[in-house]
Amino acid sequence: MKLTCIMFMCVLMTVATAAESQQPASPLSKSAAPRTKVVLLGTGTPVPDPDRSGPATAIVVDDSAYLVDFGPGVVRRAKAAVIERGITPLEPANLKVAFVTHLHSDHTAGYSDLILTGWTAGRRTALEAYGPAGLQSMTDHILKAYQIDIETRTAAGGDQRGSPEGWRVNAHEIKPGVIYKDAKITVTAFPTQHAMESYGFRFDTPDRSIVISGDTSPTEETIKACNGCDVLIHEVRTLELFSNLPEERRSFGLKNHTTSEQLAALATKARPGLLIAYHAWIAWGPSLVPSGEQPVVLTTGRFHSSPDTLQKEIASRYSGNFVIGRDLDVY
Ligand SMILES: [Zn+2]
Ligand SMILES: [Zn+2]
Repeated sequence: MKLTCIMFMCVLMTVATAAESQQPASPLSKSAAPRTKVVLLGTGTPVPDPDRSGPATAIVVDDSAYLVDFGPGVVRRAKAAVIERGITPLEPANLKVAFVTHLHSDHTAGYSDLILTGWTAGRRTALEAYGPAGLQSMTDHILKAYQIDIETRTAAGGDQRGSPEGWRVNAHEIKPGVIYKDAKITVTAFPTQHAMESYGFRFDTPDRSIVISGDTSPTEETIKACNGCDVLIHEVRTLELFSNLPEERRSFGLKNHTTSEQLAALATKARPGLLIAYHAWIAWGPSLVPSGEQPVVLTTGRFHSSPDTLQKEIASRYSGNFVIGRDLDVY
């Protein structure tokens, strides 16, 4: 709570400073009610942290919603954004377009939920899903796995017989470049560097430009994609975490993820109006810290840093506006 308050004050101070000096408005002060909102649905990691859902971010433009990644918990977090933040376009039935950065399970374990819960919540048309090669196969297998459910619900007497198409998915396997365009948004995919085929996305809307990294080590492509964008949402891990990891995890992380030091350098070059750090190995509360002697297993949360540590590591190296993202934050 303290950190949230600090960050909130930081945002307020930024807006006030821009207004006082008559400088060009920052992205956050363009309008009291911007058409485009970034809603952090899940800022977590593979760790089953009850405070942080799996990676999922929503870009909301007017009454349209666009998802990036569908980590576990995505649909319930979307409904929470409706109830707790008043973001009504995130009604689960309205989740119709989704982009996935890569096919790691922490980013896709909510896929079946998005497909099937979105349908039973009222979506009557196919879900449009965009992502790397393999997305079609993943989609086919999920639908096959739920064949009995789908057949039962759509059969005579079934509870979804009046909505016989809402379970369908149009899976689009993408390459770099413009992958989606409608009246409100253009989405451009750029390659990132991770353990498998992976992409970041740039969203251009009538009032904002937003870039999201997904999982990646720092890349020039990300810097080029942002290049003064309004909002850059980027993954990060603390230097403290890396120094404590066992060797095989450290080398994997250094190759496939981004340290706070690297993020500070990247953001300095990319010059976003606001940097949102997400998918960080941090814990907001003590719940993840194991008590007593337990086996050294990454998913117990033994290797988490505090948000304060991450805040300090970035702030000491980066002079731009930044926040550490938390589930259900709206920017
Ligand atoms: Zn990954
Ligand atoms: Zn991940």
